[in-house]
Amino acid sequence: MAHRIFNFNPGPSTLPLDVLKIVQQELLDYRGTGMSVMEISHRSPEYDEINNRAIELFRELAGLGDDYHVLFVGGGASTQFAMIPLNFLVDGKKAAYVDTGSWSTKAIKEANKLGEVHLAGSSKDKDYCFIPGPSEIDIPSGAAYLHLTSNNTIKGTQYHEWPDPGNVPLMCDMSSDILSRRLDYGKFSLIYAGAQKNLGPAGVTLVAIRDSLLAKCKDGTPSMLDYRIHAEKKSLYNTPPAFGVYIVKLVLEWVKSKGGLEAMEKINQAKQERVYQMLDQYPDYYRGTVRPDSRSWMNITFRLPNEDLEKKFIAEAKAAGLGGLKGHRSVGGVRVSTYNAMTPEGIDKLVGFMESFKKAN
Ligand SMILES: *Cc1c(COP(=O)(O)O)cnc(C)c1O
Repeated sequence: MAHRIFNFNPGPSTLPLDVLKIVQQELLDYRGTGMSVMEISHRSPEYDEINNRAIELFRELAGLGDDYHVLFVGGGASTQFAMIPLNFLVDGKKAAYVDTGSWSTKAIKEANKLGEVHLAGSSKDKDYCFIPGPSEIDIPSGAAYLHLTSNNTIKGTQYHEWPDPGNVPLMCDMSSDILSRRLDYGKFSLIYAGAQKNLGPAGVTLVAIRDSLLAKCKDGTPSMLDYRIHAEKKSLYNTPPAFGVYIVKLVLEWVKSKGGLEAMEKINQAKQERVYQMLDQYPDYYRGTVRPDSRSWMNITFRLPNEDLEKKFIAEAKAAGLGGLKGHRSVGGVRVSTYNAMTPEGIDKLVGFMESFKKAN
């Protein structure tokens, strides 16, 4: 058995061991083809089956109807920051954005290059330590869309209450919490997520887009950036990130086999509760960086009394088989990423470590 650590990396991040084992098993000879998935044609019946199954499973798990297209594209979630305004930010309209930290800020930066942006809400003046509530978000009625970031991977905040955009199409960057909890996915006209946090490896980005929105794509958009082209061609306009889509399919099968979003939510709820309990138990030692009502279930951020202790914490955790706990360079401190594939055993071990580290230091 290979040596595996508890991997708390924020992304790319831990994958379910069961999935990695299947990948290993099928690597050299995918279902009698005599080739790996990396070596087969993306026009082959084998890949067609992988692509179809991944689309179907995502729709099923997210509870979306067939009025949504599910796409697998390249370029990371960051390309979506530009693709959304390129397709939907038409002259004379404004795009509304809520700024909840690094990734939202980057999305806004791209939209600003392509059209007019309306800042519908922000927690910047409080160092992004909270998610603006529905009453703090102001959406112009004629806006082209409203863009949110459901979970802020770097700042450690997450939406627990959603604004009602009325007739304005709602779009959401769900890169770091997609399929981690039950949610009315059908209220979003467009969802996107880089796979490398909760869905699979880096290099593939999932987009789910409602057909009524697809009809509004701007003409003249370069083909690779036009959602309609990817939808019409079932993400096979060019060579897709096929191996990544294959792993996403396996991860979706794993989520389903565990009991779908209801089960994911239950497990994730218990995981985050245990870590936040430690923060609440020792608030002068493990100092949470976000407002309790905005706490993320996926990325738990906190500081220790000083930077030397933080360095020691991260180094000793690593030596104990708990990796990837360093906070993002823009925030510092510690970040515990608790994506779907992080097991309750990993959390047990982490919480035990936190308890004994506090006692010893
Ligand atoms: C990681 C992340 C991104 C960036 O994803 P890339 O695939 O690297 O472009 C965007 N948004 C959020 C919320 C993220 O966590």
